[in-house]
Amino acid sequence: MDCLIYRQICQLDHSTIRPLCAAPMSTGPKSIGPSNPRSRGKWLTWLSHGAILSVVLFCLCGCTEAEAVNAPPAKSEFNANRAYGYLKAICQLGPRPSGSPAMLEQQKMIIEHCEKLGAVVEQQKFATRHPNDGSTVELVNLIVRWQPELKDRIVIGAHYDTRPYPDRDPVNPRGTFIGANDGASGVALCMEMAHVLRSTKLSVGVDFVLFDGEEFLFDDTRDRDRYFLGSIHFAQQVAAGLMPGKYRKGVVVDMVADKQLSIYRETYSMQYAESVVKEIFAAAKRVGVNDFIPRNRHEGRDDHLPLNQIAKIPTVDLIDFDYPKPGSRDNYWHTEKDVPENCSGDSLRKVADVLLEWLKSQK
Ligand SMILES: [Zn+2]
Repeated sequence: MDCLIYRQICQLDHSTIRPLCAAPMSTGPKSIGPSNPRSRGKWLTWLSHGAILSVVLFCLCGCTEAEAVNAPPAKSEFNANRAYGYLKAICQLGPRPSGSPAMLEQQKMIIEHCEKLGAVVEQQKFATRHPNDGSTVELVNLIVRWQPELKDRIVIGAHYDTRPYPDRDPVNPRGTFIGANDGASGVALCMEMAHVLRSTKLSVGVDFVLFDGEEFLFDDTRDRDRYFLGSIHFAQQVAAGLMPGKYRKGVVVDMVADKQLSIYRETYSMQYAESVVKEIFAAAKRVGVNDFIPRNRHEGRDDHLPLNQIAKIPTVDLIDFDYPKPGSRDNYWHTEKDVPENCSGDSLRKVADVLLEWLKSQK
């Protein structure tokens, strides 16, 4: 996940709680992050004085909705243990910034895995300049096609590069960034979903699109370091009519392995793809995944923006930006604490169950 505005937005859609949340919660936003106002880098704001109240309210709201969901959990076709094993295997490759040896190993691992399970894999190659020394870096989006013969298609996107440094780490911001949640989680989810899609016939084709260069960022206070290189390239190819089939909808998964899963509606997704958001949260309700909470909370700049804005594919960002959990004083995002120990295969399973239910509902 990249540049993200963190808002605690009390946009509640059930009347019993609206009056509480409609009350003023803050005297103004408090901001942390780069002081340079032109920066596109990581920045995070929150409503300072309302934070504690918000936590209580979100808890109350969550409980209310949790009680409303009575559906028994479906028997999952998705193997949580194996998915977690994939996440660990990816992390064992080490940091995986664009163009790095570990990134090349990861590409090989994903291609072999998905081809073995019957997918058709395309390597969509393009180049960029290294932000530090200007050298040419080859980037590769991986497009993993299931049922490639179908014209109507859906994108399940995730970035698979990792940020070069854990630059929000309070102790060691130039240390080692493993990116278990912010990087490996989306890939591990796809790798395990591959086992399910191998034997599932859907009415739509599914493309896993693994984006390179989501955060090839060495210093996010300077304008020359750019986000979303892979998703922009992919979206431009779609917009130019150079991709086979017709992408009807999309979902980007990012940071979906947090042990304490909580996925809210993301506001750009609501702006560009509200009907898809609603479909997905309805699917979550059907399969009894209460960790999808149908309220707006975050506004995130992520790979879904190029897909919506350039490719015109209505695309949702599914992200658990409360890492480790809502209201926590700790924040593992872009720190050395983004490691497998803080992730869970069960969280991956929940997200995959929702996505599979949603995919099966597509006609
Ligand atoms: Zn990130």
